[in-house]
Amino acid sequence: PFDVLVVGGGPAGAAAAIYAARKGIRTGVLAERFGGQVLDTLAIENFVSVSHTEGPQMATALEAHVADYEVDVMNLQRAEKLEKTDDGFRLTTASGATLQAKSVIVSTGARWRKMGVPGEDQYMTKGVAFCPHCDGPLFKGKRVAVIGGGNSGVEAAIDLAGIVGHVTLIEFDSQLRADEVLQAKLRSLPNVAIITSALTTEVLGDGSKVTGLVYEDRTTGEKHNVELEGIFVQIGLLPNTEWLKDSGVSLSPRGEIVIDDRGATSLPGVLAAGDATTVPYKQIIIAMGAGATASLSAFDHLIRTSAP
Ligand code: FAD
Repeated sequence: PFDVLVVGGGPAGAAAAIYAARKGIRTGVLAERFGGQVLDTLAIENFVSVSHTEGPQMATALEAHVADYEVDVMNLQRAEKLEKTDDGFRLTTASGATLQAKSVIVSTGARWRKMGVPGEDQYMTKGVAFCPHCDGPLFKGKRVAVIGGGNSGVEAAIDLAGIVGHVTLIEFDSQLRADEVLQAKLRSLPNVAIITSALTTEVLGDGSKVTGLVYEDRTTGEKHNVELEGIFVQIGLLPNTEWLKDSGVSLSPRGEIVIDDRGATSLPGVLAAGDATTVPYKQIIIAMGAGATASLSAFDHLIRTSAP
């Protein structure tokens, strides 16, 4: 069996694997897509000590760093089930393979909920963005829309209003759903327009970048065009934890794995890290730190529970 089996090959999983392998213990990484969300990212300018890199370049660097160590990397494999056994855990993959491990680190990340409208996929990273902390500065002085009037959308709009030229916040419902204090802050800003009862129906572009969007006024059925350079979609971040449903690992109401400050889950021997967890703020640097924490906790668990 593996001493540490890491499930997920994004920044959190890569960090966890490196930290485990450096202890000289048997380490495996199972990943549906090694690199994770980083593969879908264009410029990365907030990974401290690296002024600028591109997502695919960072994904390659993650893979190369893991390959420096004796880590059994199983790419393009999806975990489907985690079960407790007498002496550890059994993981079953979608292809039907089973793996045994004394400890497991779950770092299966998350995915942004998309609008599902024409143009959204085509202009992803060409104006369609999901992370204001990451991509806000790319739209300095420009016009952007934020889709979604919940807490994350309104926070994003307030954040972006300080950087960009103008923000249009578009909410499907007849009113914003964010906390009142955030709504008041948003309404006080001079360069923000708020449109409610609006369904975004299309992302417009010139073939290489976003030029606007179309929304339908849900009260009149009329369609309107908004000219802009960027669209931040803030309609939910979904943790990739559906497969843990019957595992005994506690999930929060939003489906995030509940962890303590050592990365421990409700199931002793199962640790978790990164965007799949209750960790506040979902960022590469935070996921990597959490991966290291979870890995050191897994080692701590092993030296207390395994025979030498
Ligand atoms: P992920 O990167 O989501 O990796 C999850 C891993 O688990 C993947 O390998 C996936 O294939 C695998 N997986 C999922 N389910 C299963 C399963 N059932 N079985 C096996 N494997 C599974 N952050 C920044 O700090 N700076 C930025 O500039 C930045 N820009 C971003 C731009 C975009 C477009 C997006 C989408 C995100 C951006 N982020 C940025 C956020 C950052 O990418 C994430 O916070 C980070 O990747 C989280 O790392 P993670 O390892 O927790 O999860």
